[in-house]
This record gives sequence, structure tokens and C-alpha cells, in this order.
Amino acid sequence: MQYQRSSALFQSAQKVIPGGVNSPVRAFQAVGGTPIFVQKAKGAYLYDEDGNTLIDYISSWGPMILGHAFEAVIEAVKERADRGTSYGMPTELETQIAELAVQMVPNIDKIRMVNSGTEACMSAVRLARGFTGREKIIKFAGCYHGHSDAFLIQAGSGAVTFGAPNSPGVTQGTAKDTLLAQYNDLESVSLHFEQHPEQIAAIIIEPVAGNMGCIPPKAGFLEGLRALCDDHQALLIFDEVMTGFRLAKGGAQESLGIAADIMTYGKVLGGGLPVGAFAARSEIMSHLAPEGPVYQAGTLSGNPLAMAAGFAMLNHLNAHPEIFQSLNNKTALLHQGMAEVLNQKGIPYQINRYGSMLSLHFTDQEVVDFKTAALGNNDHFKNYFHGMLERGIYLPPSAFESYFLNDTLSLEDIEKTIDALASVMAKW
Ligand SMILES: *Cc1c(COP(=O)(O)O)cnc(C)c1O
Repeated sequence: MQYQRSSALFQSAQKVIPGGVNSPVRAFQAVGGTPIFVQKAKGAYLYDEDGNTLIDYISSWGPMILGHAFEAVIEAVKERADRGTSYGMPTELETQIAELAVQMVPNIDKIRMVNSGTEACMSAVRLARGFTGREKIIKFAGCYHGHSDAFLIQAGSGAVTFGAPNSPGVTQGTAKDTLLAQYNDLESVSLHFEQHPEQIAAIIIEPVAGNMGCIPPKAGFLEGLRALCDDHQALLIFDEVMTGFRLAKGGAQESLGIAADIMTYGKVLGGGLPVGAFAARSEIMSHLAPEGPVYQAGTLSGNPLAMAAGFAMLNHLNAHPEIFQSLNNKTALLHQGMAEVLNQKGIPYQINRYGSMLSLHFTDQEVVDFKTAALGNNDHFKNYFHGMLERGIYLPPSAFESYFLNDTLSLEDIEKTIDALASVMAKW
């Protein structure tokens, strides 16, 4: 495949955009080479600026669960755009999408829309602090909750890939209120509660981790967190920016059968437009301005174009819950096919999968947390990534990112992907 035009575009971009990209993981730093510039996308396929067609396994990092340019979403945005793009005043549409979200998701009475997952998580923590009157939070190494200061402490994917787990610019003062624990390790959490009695406002966690590859919670882990929060009057925040409206209508809460206190959303919720949200029961949400004293605001929050896209997306998922099962089946098929090829090759690997999230690590150790995710052989990963790309398969350009399957992927696409892997491995 040729990437001359992408290379030229990247050269130009680097002159006016830091690193040539508006979000670091797009820059291919973990795998080397030149990022691919996209011209358009439809269904399961990306069409790049050099005329190549790629089968897409990132789905814009999650949002495109129904495939690119899904007709109902595109139509809704077009129809809405003719009526103006923002008013700074309420619209009926905001209530409609909130009603639908509250109906689809367990344990929420009210939801507040924002413009990104970052904003959602930042605001959720402020709300938890305001509600409990406590200052500290617990987060897990390798979990990503957006790029606000409090979370850039061993933050997974982008931050890990670039070797800057603690970003310059985050103050000691901020860092001291973020307590770090290990994923799938309850002991590391209960220690913090012992050492900081009545100071911990909340635990925030990706209920299925997706920013150190895909790491499902071990049996009893989330239940244990729920119990610790209950024992210590702390809130449990599920960051469902990835898992919300992807694993099930009701996200990880429904899929895993655990009730959290505050949920954050993004990605699928916006249908590809910039949307985030946080939600909880009324008792908690009533602390939020203008009902309560915890301040949070946004000029473009609940933006009509974004809400139109999100509403069309949620309506479709709500009416077709079989999509979650079909995605699960497709991902299982991919998993099985990859495993057969890799077993034959005899190369050490781990495939983690939950629902339509999957990742491959080149290590013989079970990947259960950030430490074990970091054991993967990155030279193998680079060869694998570029080999697949050469064969028309677009994978996440970092071993610390999860694949996100979309519903328009056909069985032929998945077979092609497995054949591509076999061909890569034949030359290994
Ligand atoms: C993507 C992501 C975020 C941040 O969302 P943005 O819209 O990129 O700000 C937060 N939490 C999780 C779990 C994510 O995957």
C-alpha cells in the first residue's frame, strides 16, 4: 500500500499542529511510521487519502458502534443543522435524549450533558467531592478518565505510550489527592481506606478496562469495590465512557450486574459528535448547579447537532438490543480465529476480550492489570500492527488500546482479518 499523500499531509500538519495530530495516540509513536489520513468512512471501512480501503477496528475509539456514517444519525444531524447549530437556550431534544438514557441505564434518575468524556469524569469527581464533603479519590493504574489534572496519574493508553505517566503541568497538590490502586487487586484499595479514614470521596474505575488493552474485572473485584464504598460511605464512580451503550443498553452496570453511584458516558452516546455525560440518582444529582451548590456548566453542552446524533444512536440501540449479542458473537469469532493462528505459530500471546472489546498482548503472562499489560513485547506488536495495515486491516496503533468492533463488520471482514494475521505470521 502507498502512503505518499498521507505522508505529505502529515508533514504539513506537523508545521501547524503539535505532533501533527489533535490527540496523541493518532500519531503512531508507539508503532512508528506515518499516521494515515482519512478521507471518508462508511460502515466498517475507512477510505484513506491515498485511495486505500481499510477494515476499521477502532470505530473512532468506540462511538461508531453501528458503523461509520450510519444513516439515521447522518439524517438527524442534517435535518437539525438547517435549524441552527447552537442557541444557548434549552431545547426539547435535550429532555428527549435524557429521558431515553434514564430509561436505558440502571440506577440513574438524572443526567447532565457535557462535551467530552474528559469533562464528564472531571465533573463526576467534583460532584462526588461536593456530595461527600471529602477530597481524595482512588483511581487505578492504567485506567484513563480523560486528561484533566486529577487523572493524569498513571493514566493508561496515550499517557503510557508516550512514557509520561505523570504529565508535567499536574501539580503536587492535585496529585496528592489521587490515590493509586492496582486493577483487580482489592487489597490495594482497602489499604487506602485504612490509611485515609473518612477522607475518600470516591473510587473511579473503568468497569471493564479499555485503556491498557482490554482487561475485564475478575470475579468479585467490582463487588468488592462496591462493598468497600458502602462500608466507608464513599461513592463508586463507573467510568462508562467506553462501555456505556456498548456492552449492553445499560452498559457495564447491566452487563456485570453491579450498581454504581455515578456513571460517566461519552463516545457511543454522541454518535460521533462531541458528547459526554454524567448521571446518578436524584439524591446525588440534586447537588449540581443550578439545583445545588456544585458548579458545572458548558456553552455548547446539549448542543442540538450532538443531541440529534446521540438521540438517533440511542433510539436505534434501544430498539435493537440484539446488536449487543451480535457484536459479542463477532468478537468471539475474531478471538477464536486469531487464537488458532497464534497457537499454530507457537508465539506467546494473551487475548483479552469482553463483549465487543478485545486486545492482543505478546506475553505469556495473564494480563490482569497495568503491570502485566506492560510486559507485552512491543517489537512484536509493531510488526503485527504494520503487517496487518499492509493487508488492509486498521488496528489500534498501540498495544495499550482496545479494539472496538462495529455492527457493520461482516463475517467476510472478520475472515479476511484472520487470513491477514495468518499471512503476517507466515512471514514472522
Ligand atoms: C475516551 C475515554 C475518556 C475520555 O473521553 P474524551 O471524550 O476523549 O475526553 C474517559 N474515560 C474513558 C474510559 C475513555 O475511554
